[in-house]
Amino acid sequence: MKAAVLEAIKRIVVKDVAVPAPRSDEVLIKVKACGMCGTDLKLYNGQYSARTPVVPGHEYAGEIVEVGKEVKNLKVGQRVVSDPNESCGKCYWCRNQQPCFCNDLAAYGVLRDGGFAEYCTASEKGIYPIPAGLADEAAAFAEPVSCVVHAMDRINYRSGETVAIIGGGPMGQIHLQFALHSGVRKVILIEQEATRCEMAKKFGAQVVINPKDGNVRERVLAETDGLGPDVVVEAVGRAETFEQAVELARRGGRVLIFGFAPEGQKATIIPFNVLSRELTILGSWVNPYSYSRALDILATGKLDVQSLISNRLKLDHIQQAYTLMMEKPAGFMKTIVFPE
Ligand SMILES: [Zn+2]
Ligand SMILES: [Zn+2]
Repeated sequence: MKAAVLEAIKRIVVKDVAVPAPRSDEVLIKVKACGMCGTDLKLYNGQYSARTPVVPGHEYAGEIVEVGKEVKNLKVGQRVVSDPNESCGKCYWCRNQQPCFCNDLAAYGVLRDGGFAEYCTASEKGIYPIPAGLADEAAAFAEPVSCVVHAMDRINYRSGETVAIIGGGPMGQIHLQFALHSGVRKVILIEQEATRCEMAKKFGAQVVINPKDGNVRERVLAETDGLGPDVVVEAVGRAETFEQAVELARRGGRVLIFGFAPEGQKATIIPFNVLSRELTILGSWVNPYSYSRALDILATGKLDVQSLISNRLKLDHIQQAYTLMMEKPAGFMKTIVFPE
């Protein structure tokens, strides 16, 4: 079969490899669509530790073509997605309802082969059937959406709150749509790129602020009665935007660190501001117990993910998918890779 193999940092090669054989508790999936996200670029750049060689791609949807002997609840022909974060079920974290911290997380597309290939294997315990009527390329968003579902569990929006989201990339736009459905009063999205600003307006953001147009803090204060937002979501993954998020939050406010900052990167915040303003700084890590809810929400059609797809590429053009991620040309949002 054809697979894109990350052989070393900054070296991705499409080549012929053997079709993987599912273990007794696994299924073999024919991949139909696989999304590329920031994590894939971080792996490519060596900013997040992967095992190499590895077939990247953790946001995939496909069809079961073979089931292992011990697989109980799945059958050949079913359309499925797989949760790429498979926890061990045995360690301290797994036994204390926090599988996202599992000591032995089998991260698909990171530590074991993922979906930038014609076929991949996955354990039955992480497989979810795709609801009828949900297109493969929309189902491929189950993973990013599940991460936002978990973030919603962390933030716990209250009715009437004001929210600022920093970053209008695919994750920022998904956050925006969730916030708008959460009963909050006003959502402000902060983004530099014009087409992303337009998209945020289309999705219903009440205020879109482009830092190129002037002082962000002043404008956010003007939009929040001089108080700042109750919640600031950092959906970029950079030190500066983390610092900005802490600065923007209202006294007593919450800051959610969602963007995937490179491992080891440092930011500067003023402890006095955190203590005197009683800020709550929350992290949100992957997607514990949120996959089926993500699929349920996708199935309702209330969440528009297909508008976030700016590029559809064949597996042979995987290098182009990485180049797009690196260069982020105007209008670029997200690439979905199709193995056939
Ligand atoms: Zn992802
Ligand atoms: Zn574990």
